[in-house]
Amino acid sequence: MQGTLTFLGSGTSMGVPTLGCRCAVCANAHLAGSPNRRTRPSILIAYNNKHVLIDTGQDFHAQAVREDLQSVDAVLYTHGHADHILGMDDLRPLSFKNSDGLPLFADEATADIIERVFEYTFRKVDRYPTSARVTLHRISTNPGTFVPLFGVDFLRVPVTHGRNTIAGYRFGPAAYLTDTSDIPDSSLPLLQGLDLLILDALRREPHPSHLHLEKSIELVNKLAPKRALFTHISHDLDHLSTNASLPANMQLAHDGLKLEFDITYEVKA
Ligand SMILES: [Zn+2]
Ligand SMILES: [Zn+2]
Ligand SMILES: [Zn+2]
Repeated sequence: MQGTLTFLGSGTSMGVPTLGCRCAVCANAHLAGSPNRRTRPSILIAYNNKHVLIDTGQDFHAQAVREDLQSVDAVLYTHGHADHILGMDDLRPLSFKNSDGLPLFADEATADIIERVFEYTFRKVDRYPTSARVTLHRISTNPGTFVPLFGVDFLRVPVTHGRNTIAGYRFGPAAYLTDTSDIPDSSLPLLQGLDLLILDALRREPHPSHLHLEKSIELVNKLAPKRALFTHISHDLDHLSTNASLPANMQLAHDGLKLEFDITYEVKA
């Protein structure tokens, strides 16, 4: 089964240009069409006439307009930080098309944050009438947890994000690991045989809750996917010059980047 993956956003939580910054990358990001212009991180996976999102950040509305996204069938959340959940409310008009409620999948900690932030949406009584018609499904953090969606299993891959352990997802020969400072040994077997690894690479200097470029490259070499794309990128990394310096199988992603691949994937029991 063919799938198309679209980078809705490839930027870090502050976005690029970063407010209040006049560095060369931010200046370039102001130019229309600049690959340095990076909105908050999220991907769209389309297959089987279905559209699955991983995360909905603050830029979700603009991203959906840019990609002419007409429907969403499920959302998988990685964790509860603002750059990953705050676009949830923009699912409203798309959620009305789904009579059973658009399904959202999140672990307990993330689901609690979503419920608290969007309290008016999940209220049992006196619910705001035009709230998003969504159903929040709590998924286990146990190793091997997966979410079957429209013929593809989305395997939860625990990754370290500073002091937290959050969700990455594997689907077919691809994996999406945003907001990663390290990959626990127990997750390494879940990431074997990848054609495509999408991995956090925030900047050049080390950071307490994100991978920096050198460590991202190290992890790609260790996991040996056919190809790796870096995301959650700050204004520290200029798109063209950084890409020119990277090994041939690794590149920085950019907003709007699309990849096609065979997404067929069933988790083996
Ligand atoms: Zn983030
Ligand atoms: Zn800057
Ligand atoms: Zn985060």
